[in-house]
Amino acid sequence: MNSINQSVRLLSGCDMPLVGIGTYKVRSSDIFRVLDESLNSGFRAIDTAAVYKNEEAIGTALKSLLPKYNLKREDLFITTKLSPSDNGNPEGIRKAVETSLNALGTTYVDLYLIHWPGASKIPENSSDNSELRSVTWKTLVDLHKQGLLKSIGVSNYNIIHLQQLVANCDDVKPSVNQVECHPHYRQDDLLKYCTQEGIHLQAYSSLGSSDNDALLNDPVVRQVSSTLNVSPARLLLKWALQRGIGIIPKATKTAHIRDNIKLGFTIDKDSMDLLLNLPQQKYAWDPSNVN
Ligand code: NDP
Repeated sequence: MNSINQSVRLLSGCDMPLVGIGTYKVRSSDIFRVLDESLNSGFRAIDTAAVYKNEEAIGTALKSLLPKYNLKREDLFITTKLSPSDNGNPEGIRKAVETSLNALGTTYVDLYLIHWPGASKIPENSSDNSELRSVTWKTLVDLHKQGLLKSIGVSNYNIIHLQQLVANCDDVKPSVNQVECHPHYRQDDLLKYCTQEGIHLQAYSSLGSSDNDALLNDPVVRQVSSTLNVSPARLLLKWALQRGIGIIPKATKTAHIRDNIKLGFTIDKDSMDLLLNLPQQKYAWDPSNVN
């Protein structure tokens, strides 16, 4: 089956496409073109966040793009995220959800994530962070039960953050943990823990992010991709899928968008092993100091 049609059944009972598009740093003025090309290419999942400041542009674009592609709202999977500035504040969280729903022009989101384990107004090492996370989760569980958030999850949580949450989650475990993950930052232990708990690990910055081409230019990545006759980007995306990890590549160039759905090939074991033995380096923000 083409990977673009594959989905994962989340703990919530909802199905999420394993492949979606990322929109971090996609300017509002580019959103229509990027979504048009992505829907045309077959993508059916969109990842955004309150802090990306493009939810409204996405909502506006979808008003005309859904009819253009003969799609209904339920044919799409939309993820958005709570800004760290709203962590721990039930009233602020309810307002943030309402604002995102209005901006996106929808009555529900498919997945709502706590973007970051820390609250922006207090130090990362403050012991208050874990209590604020717990308050946030309870509020999201309530909004989930009301049907506004079909699935709820977290982002940038490490094993300790997840263990605390699972121990005190009001019987609703996070469906997803969205984290940086690629051959330069494999996340083996976190993947193992999430798999044990049934939490789907979704990768961000699969291509090393918009600010960094070290991963796409890694000599081993280039050598393996040339042997398999695929682009380095396709190799990196397929590497995640073969580990059971969802992906949300961000691409603004049409050629990139079209490249990123061509994932119907297999990486052989020797090539996977080469990619599983690269030196490790983190490129995005690091939650390890968030208490
Ligand atoms: P990615 O790792 O997806 O890389 C994006 C970069 O790769 C862009 O420069 C893009 O270029 C380029 N690119 C895309 N496709 C190709 C291709 N086929 N060949 C060569 N280059 C390509 O970056 P992100 O860090 O944006 O991660 C993806 C998404 O994950 C984000 O957009 C966001 O939705 C989410 N995210 C979540 C975070 C969180 O804290 N929860 C943090 C970071 C990201 P171009 O745009 O020019 O086409």
